[in-house]
Amino acid sequence: MNGRPAPAYRGRFAPSPTGALHFGSLVAAIGSWLRARSRSGSWIIRIEDLDPPREVAGAAQQQIETLAAFGLVSDEPILWQHQRHDAYAAALRQLVDAGHAFPCWCSRSDLQRSAGLHHSPCVAAPAQDRAPAWRLRVPDLTLGFDDRLLGRYEQPLATEVGDFVVRRVEGYYAYQLAVVVDDAAQGISEVVRGADLLDSTPRQILLQQRLGLPTPAYLHLPLALDAAGRKLSKQDQALPIDATDPLPALRAALEFLGLPIARLSHAASPPALLAAAVEVFDVAAIPHTASIVRMRHGSA
Ligand code: GLU
Repeated sequence: MNGRPAPAYRGRFAPSPTGALHFGSLVAAIGSWLRARSRSGSWIIRIEDLDPPREVAGAAQQQIETLAAFGLVSDEPILWQHQRHDAYAAALRQLVDAGHAFPCWCSRSDLQRSAGLHHSPCVAAPAQDRAPAWRLRVPDLTLGFDDRLLGRYEQPLATEVGDFVVRRVEGYYAYQLAVVVDDAAQGISEVVRGADLLDSTPRQILLQQRLGLPTPAYLHLPLALDAAGRKLSKQDQALPIDATDPLPALRAALEFLGLPIARLSHAASPPALLAAAVEVFDVAAIPHTASIVRMRHGSA
């Protein structure tokens, strides 16, 4: 003990408004909330509305209301990524000035013809008449991190990812850049999210290093699969959750995260159930592998 208080825990839930929240989103929201509360920390909602063509009108508001019906309310004003373009532009400028990002006019078919799956050197000549994409130059190294649930994860970036897009041809900033800029701006100390984003994390750590930003801790939660063993997706409307009757899905999500649900049966409202869940939440009990969701209907 050096007498200094430990830095405050800050966690977040960052949905893209591409459809209604499904059971997998609920697991990520609750997992990140439980982790923050069990550390006496803050939990913040961020709406990742970066990609207007994929956005569903009204989805962001509906997601916020659904979360509230489950007792999950942001401790700070919600951050909307559509209001953050200046910060992303500044980050891109920093990368370009340092020689880490470059303009790229390669088309999809150029990439297929030359590098195969991943972008390495550009093959297209610079064009005056159309805008480029901007890519981060990826060095030939393996980047790894220690996930707080899953342990060591390593990825050879050049062969598995290649030089990746940080700003798209259409002018939209890429998720990878925006998430890194905002996690740092919001002082997020630990990112808790679904394991579908595990293989994005080395890219995000590389961007943090290139931008001189701190790397938060990461904890990736098991994925929820539908009865056919497929990953749930918002676009498929897979296992949507019912905000008018939150308790069954809330109990199922807590059980999915390894909580002893029978010991929580006395709690009869979402806030009471969440408060009881914080007391017994244990990261060591979270399963490591994806599993099929067993949703019981009615008051299970
Ligand atoms: N916006 C991303 C999604 O909805 C999640 C981003 C994150 O948690 O890093 O899949």
